Amino acid sequence: MSHFQREFAVTLPAGRVRFGPGVRHDIGAEIARLGAERALILTTPRQADAMRAFATEAEGRVVDVFAGAKMHTPVSVTEDALAEVEKIGADCLVAVGGGSTTGLAKALAYRTNLPQIIVPTTYAGSEATPILGQTEDGIKTTLRDPRVQPEVILYDAKLVTGLPVAMTVTSALNAIAHAAEGLYAEDRNPLSSVMAVEGMRAFADALPRVLADPGDLDARGETLYGAWLCGSVLGQVSMALHHKLCHTLGGTFDLPHAETHAIILPHAIGFNAAAVPELLAPVAEIFGAGSAGRALHGFAARMGAPTRLSDLGLKESDLDRAAELATQNAYPNPAEITPQGVRQILEAAYCGRPPVR
Ligand code: NAD
Repeated sequence: MSHFQREFAVTLPAGRVRFGPGVRHDIGAEIARLGAERALILTTPRQADAMRAFATEAEGRVVDVFAGAKMHTPVSVTEDALAEVEKIGADCLVAVGGGSTTGLAKALAYRTNLPQIIVPTTYAGSEATPILGQTEDGIKTTLRDPRVQPEVILYDAKLVTGLPVAMTVTSALNAIAHAAEGLYAEDRNPLSSVMAVEGMRAFADALPRVLADPGDLDARGETLYGAWLCGSVLGQVSMALHHKLCHTLGGTFDLPHAETHAIILPHAIGFNAAAVPELLAPVAEIFGAGSAGRALHGFAARMGAPTRLSDLGLKESDLDRAAELATQNAYPNPAEITPQGVRQILEAAYCGRPPVR
């Protein structure tokens, strides 16, 4: 159905987004532009040393580095970081890292309203959304709030040249998942669909070039452009079956985020292709021939992505429980969601079988 036969609304974030190899070196000027002078840098333990060096480039505008960001944004880590924000009187947050580090900045901004500058080092795309997922006592909750939307994003291709190849591929497929599901979102709009198609096209073009030469700045730059587009789609429209399955597998069975997205994506998209083949036609065109699910499966395999949930530690005996959990609450999805249908998706993804469509 054409966009213009439906009502639609476009909500665009008012942020500033810069691209370019070396753009991170302007960090001091970007902090100053926000009227701030006491920034706190956030990162993961693995990236701590590099960030202490980076802090010295900020013309004296970075006061400290908090290197405790963790996957799934635990509230206990946010509370430790909040104590640091208060101790040093921080007036700006600078997150350098993947989705976990961005999550910490967002959790702090939600509580303090401090401005955020995000310097992404993966393709997760969280920097382009007003969405925050947090974990407390083993339960993950998600909220949307304008306070959480970062003010500035600096996409520096040089920072992703060091992203290991396996993470590069799974993180790219994680981004592509936002765009693919965005194409059939109930609240999609003409702009979100254009961004989704262009984001997927950027990855289809640049990811093979990145794998041939992980230091190729042109290809890395294009993947970051793709990450921003795909993340912007996630920020604008609601997700469906694919994201629900990944959250269930991550939340209850502790499967790793990006790998789980990479494995489930062709199966969830193939399942929905039966209901909305015309909306998913761009996926088939961009990633290969034939149907959307099969095209994505082929692309993921060519890129060397993991294809079996069994390789992530899921047990065959978990499949029934996962199918039950993923179908517990109703949510909009183009194809009807049934426990048997979801069980079949999970089984194919467990064994690494190509999807039917
Ligand atoms: P991550 O941020 O957890 O990073 C994984 C690991 O890779 C970390 O140890 C990190 O130190 C390391 N790393 C990151 N960049 C690196 C680089 N360039 N070189 C070497 N090592 C690097 O992984 P992620 O996949 O980016 O983020 C996943 C998290 O983001 C999940 O918690 C997910 O829920 C969240 N997320 C949120 C949104 C949102 O809109 N709220 C969107 C996407 C993802």
